[in-house]
Amino acid sequence: MALKGVIIDPGHGGKDSGAVGNGIVEKDYALKISKYMYDRFKELGIPVRLTRDSDITLSPKERIKEIKKYFDRTKNTIVVSNHLNAGKGDGAEVIYALRDKNTLAKKILNNIESSGQNARKYYQLRLPNNSSKDYYFIHRDTPNNESIIVEYGFVDSPKDDVSQIKNNYKAYAEAVVKAICEYKGIKYTKPKNITLNNNNSGVKNDYFTYSVKKGDTLWDIARLYNTSVDNIKKLNNLNNNSLKIGQVLKIPGQLYIVKKGDSLWKIAKNNNTTINSLLKANNLKNTTLKVGQELIII
Ligand SMILES: [Zn+2]
Repeated sequence: MALKGVIIDPGHGGKDSGAVGNGIVEKDYALKISKYMYDRFKELGIPVRLTRDSDITLSPKERIKEIKKYFDRTKNTIVVSNHLNAGKGDGAEVIYALRDKNTLAKKILNNIESSGQNARKYYQLRLPNNSSKDYYFIHRDTPNNESIIVEYGFVDSPKDDVSQIKNNYKAYAEAVVKAICEYKGIKYTKPKNITLNNNNSGVKNDYFTYSVKKGDTLWDIARLYNTSVDNIKKLNNLNNNSLKIGQVLKIPGQLYIVKKGDSLWKIAKNNNTTINSLLKANNLKNTTLKVGQELIII
């Protein structure tokens, strides 16, 4: 079945810190892991959303409401809830829903293990008073999606989890991205160094960076990237129009990686832009695309 999209859920947040210990606050690492995954799915051209992209409190109801906003209510939409564990264990765990097979859970745990963390188990958990239902609401209340909880390690581990979480969380997040690609038969490529920053789960507030060259004016740059001087000034907190050579500006837009079967026409149509804007923003001389090519979408 084709993948419609991935919804990443950074566990806890705001008033709910989750597990805390040894300088690790679960809600913060859940967010870091999730943002990393978000950037990577974008880089791979896979539709992705976050339930939260900042330190806010979300009730279970609000979290589910957020999830239901995106993609579809089928197994083609994967929900990944990122957590850390507590209880003096060591290693990663993956919990999958009662309705799902263990295929994805197993792949995720295997890949996390290959990236250097030790694997504890993948399993299902039932409500004690109603064994036909999942224990965790993230499984229970997303009944038609493929929903999975990943616990990357223990904040109170007597072994090496504490330093592993701090130093290797990106590698473990990458392991999950790779597992989802493998599971859905999507071509996986290793991360590139992209200067894409995401401050929002929506497309509109993404930006890429532009380094000011000799002779550039705000007006030139705005025209080149199909935006306005005002938008650039707002995003960069600029009070006037003066620029310095080498100054790094945030430009509203989105990075897109060309997939097999893409055409400029298709990309323009799917992103509410025009072939002409794409040609201009990317300095393209013709409409030929290569798989893996990076395009700026404005
Ligand atoms: Zn948690």
